[in-house]
Amino acid sequence: MSDTESKEPLNFIEQIIEEDLKNGKHGGVVHTRFPPEPNGYPHIGHAKSIVLNFGLAEKYGGKCNLRFDDTNPEKESSEYVEAIKRDVEWLGYEWHGNALFASDYFDRLYEWATELIKKEKAYVDDTPVEQIRAERGTPTEPGKESAYRNRSVEENLTLFSEMKDGKYPDGAKILRAKVDMASPNMHMRDPILYRIRHVEHHRTGNSWCIYPTYDFAHGQSDSLEEITHSLCTLEFEVHRPLYNWIIEQLEIFPSRQIEFARLNLGYTIVSKRKLLQLVEGGYVSGWDDPRMPTLSGIRRRGYTPNAIKNFIHKVGIARRDSITDVALLEYSIREDLNKTTNRVMGVLDPVKLTITNYPEDRDEELTAINNPEDESAGTRKLPFSNEIFIERADFMEDPPRKFFRLGPGREVRLKYAYIIKCEDFKKDGDGNITEIICTYDPDSKSGQDTSGKKVKGTLSWVSAKHAETVEVRLYDRLFKTENLNEIEDDFLNHLNTDSLSTLDNVKVEPSLKNAQAGSRFQFERQGYFVVDQDSGDTKKIFNRTVTLRDNWAKQSRK
Ligand code: ATP
Ligand code: MG
Repeated sequence: MSDTESKEPLNFIEQIIEEDLKNGKHGGVVHTRFPPEPNGYPHIGHAKSIVLNFGLAEKYGGKCNLRFDDTNPEKESSEYVEAIKRDVEWLGYEWHGNALFASDYFDRLYEWATELIKKEKAYVDDTPVEQIRAERGTPTEPGKESAYRNRSVEENLTLFSEMKDGKYPDGAKILRAKVDMASPNMHMRDPILYRIRHVEHHRTGNSWCIYPTYDFAHGQSDSLEEITHSLCTLEFEVHRPLYNWIIEQLEIFPSRQIEFARLNLGYTIVSKRKLLQLVEGGYVSGWDDPRMPTLSGIRRRGYTPNAIKNFIHKVGIARRDSITDVALLEYSIREDLNKTTNRVMGVLDPVKLTITNYPEDRDEELTAINNPEDESAGTRKLPFSNEIFIERADFMEDPPRKFFRLGPGREVRLKYAYIIKCEDFKKDGDGNITEIICTYDPDSKSGQDTSGKKVKGTLSWVSAKHAETVEVRLYDRLFKTENLNEIEDDFLNHLNTDSLSTLDNVKVEPSLKNAQAGSRFQFERQGYFVVDQDSGDTKKIFNRTVTLRDNWAKQSRK
């Protein structure tokens, strides 16, 4: 923790932890965990939970486990386990000991279920699940007790063991807790503890055909690992009485559950189930499509772990749900990349510009600053010649007075080079500009300017014969609607169909020839870019991470 961070006011979870430490609870130990279900790739919402859990363990000299809640074999896989491990490591965290799995506790959970039966706190129910659901009642009306609720301990033990041995088909029986069918908390109305599923599990194979529910596995997994502060999102608040009830019945380690608000982000889906729909439906190229809010997607997009952590800290930890402006995430990445990336010249939509009084056979090397925010980044050589490319948008045939870029008879500076004057231009039959004709002032070289000229505009450029041609992918929001929690129709109706545009004739300076996949740059005046992992040897692909300024938000905000 840096000094500035430790001076910030404590969030409510830190307050609870500091109170516990003061009272010597759990011998002054802080032990948290990040408990993902391996049913998809982690997203930006998970980053909040990761940064919170691992960050608190770091701050208080404690430990943080990585535990997979793998109780739902139909939807889970080891591909997802690996993706989650990769992303936690990428964020810069190390979990305590080995990665853990709820499935490692299946034997213990089975024993505990048996213990509950013996205490007459659980029973086998033959009622079909739909009927159980129908008989649960409503928050204001009590539920109906099952006809099987008062089976004898012996009968329950026999039936439960037969369920385990595969004697019954899926759905024929379940194990339920015997709590209170009249409880105002629906989760206390004899919740389901075990169900029969004849499916293979990615870790335990075919050893089990009954699986504990999330509610029966989660709390006890925390207890087994002696998790002191079990942090989860608000929707689990209503499950807490059940977890505490189980802890009491079994007299096991009393982990304390504390709930916080989920991260919701504008124009963004944070649900693995829906993200899977995008992948399976081919709406994106995969889990790591740079438009995806998955950590693998935003990593490929060029985001840094630092930016994500700073973003999570800025969002803060609250107890009320809200929706975070996506501009805050973009601010965090700009803030980080501004300090760390080198500037280069890149022209996204090139038009040729010829300097008639510059010798055709002359090759000049100019000096360019790599990062004005970081002197130690040094300088590089930038080749200049009589033919260059500039952005098409930097020239207007008939510019208004306030247009400080190029137009007939106007003068601008080429960054790190000379002042040029537009003498003429050429057009094709469709009226498109094909070439701009200029002269330069030899006395106006940057750093040695004796011309006495004052110009308002400075343009980026690349020398035509030295330029590399690359592909650039520009990304926009994946969805058109800001608050996707409030929509009533299918979220797919809200997809932005123009979220990707590909430019295949982008000109960049030659220093980028050997740029490695994952390297990040600021293209002067254009934004931040990263070399994509799928870049070919002949033609590189650059993903635009983010624009330089928040243009989009300004246009769309009321
Ligand atoms: P999803 O709906 O995307 O599947 P989940 O909550 O079911 O999310 P889990 O794998 O169970 O996903 O989540 C692991 C941990 O991350 C949990 O503790 C969960 O509370 C937390 N988490 C999930 N989504 C968010 C979010 N948007 N903001 C903060 N924490 C989250
Ligand atoms: Mg879940």
